Amino acid sequence: RRRIRRMTKVELHAHLNGSIRPATLKRLAAERGLDAACLDRKRTLEVCFEIFALIHKCVDSLEIVAVIAREFLEDLRADGCAYVELRTTPRALQGRTEADYVRTVCRVLSEASGITARLLVSVDRSRGPEAAAKTLAEVAQLRRSDATVDRIVVGVDFSGNPTSKHGFDAFEHLFREVRDQWGLGCALHVGETPRSDGDSAKILAFAREKPRRVRFGHALAFSDDELRGCASLIEACPSSNAATLDLARLEDHPRLWCHFHSTGSPPLAICTDDTGVFGCSLAGEYLKVWDAFGPVDLVRVVDDAAAAAFDACCGEAVRRRRAMYNV
Ligand code: IMP
Repeated sequence: RRRIRRMTKVELHAHLNGSIRPATLKRLAAERGLDAACLDRKRTLEVCFEIFALIHKCVDSLEIVAVIAREFLEDLRADGCAYVELRTTPRALQGRTEADYVRTVCRVLSEASGITARLLVSVDRSRGPEAAAKTLAEVAQLRRSDATVDRIVVGVDFSGNPTSKHGFDAFEHLFREVRDQWGLGCALHVGETPRSDGDSAKILAFAREKPRRVRFGHALAFSDDELRGCASLIEACPSSNAATLDLARLEDHPRLWCHFHSTGSPPLAICTDDTGVFGCSLAGEYLKVWDAFGPVDLVRVVDDAAAAAFDACCGEAVRRRRAMYNV
């Protein structure tokens, strides 16, 4: 277990605001006199989105955005993470623009030491396609004018409340542009709940066109047959998925089970999703998988994740840390 804690890891699915340290969140909520009772409730999908709303009320300036990003990078480094793709939805805060938000996060990620950090810009489906188009147009402009943003932004994430009325088809043209014109990666939340959200077939078809440019977040609602032979990596988030699926045991996680017990299932990464919401950590997620499915080849899981990173420099970051710590 000590070796698993120390081993070199890669984090591909973590939402910045959802990764706020619980102590920081409680302090900020108390300072603002906000009701934080939702933090004591069982983590259903609905409660998680109540907690995101609380976090967004607390993280109300770019200075705080920078603090939570630095704290999360510190936590990841301590957990053995060599490379992270952090994702976040740009917000205009206190008179600053969404572009300022992206610039701030990119600066913090570019200054990280002991860990290589990249950014996925999140499209929140609940805000609708017009808002997404506006955000992405600003990001495109920033990538042209700011070399740090251009280096740090490596993809776009499709996230937000899956029960929202907007489906992937309303956003598909934007992701086509990101994938085919910008040449960046698309990390798509799909099939988060057992009841398929209706997007699964469209997202699977989109991924099959260029599997290496697309990764799936969660992908719980797919059948094993639908995914067989698919080369797009699945970002599995054990604690988060166990909460959403209300699993009594992680052994019943459909994607992890299939990955470790059958052949022909897609590559898979172990990720945290929202450490601040689920009270989890990257090393802790690896240990949970080991306890439920071990002995399994976790180094191979890390290698698969590194191969699916949207920046090829991930491989070098992993090699460097392995050479330095011999694990
Ligand atoms: P932010 O994008 O940095 O503000 O991180 C929090 C946001 O990430 C939430 O408001 C959601 O839009 C998104 N998010 C976090 N976890 C999930 C998930 O499991 N499914 C869909 N969206 C999520």
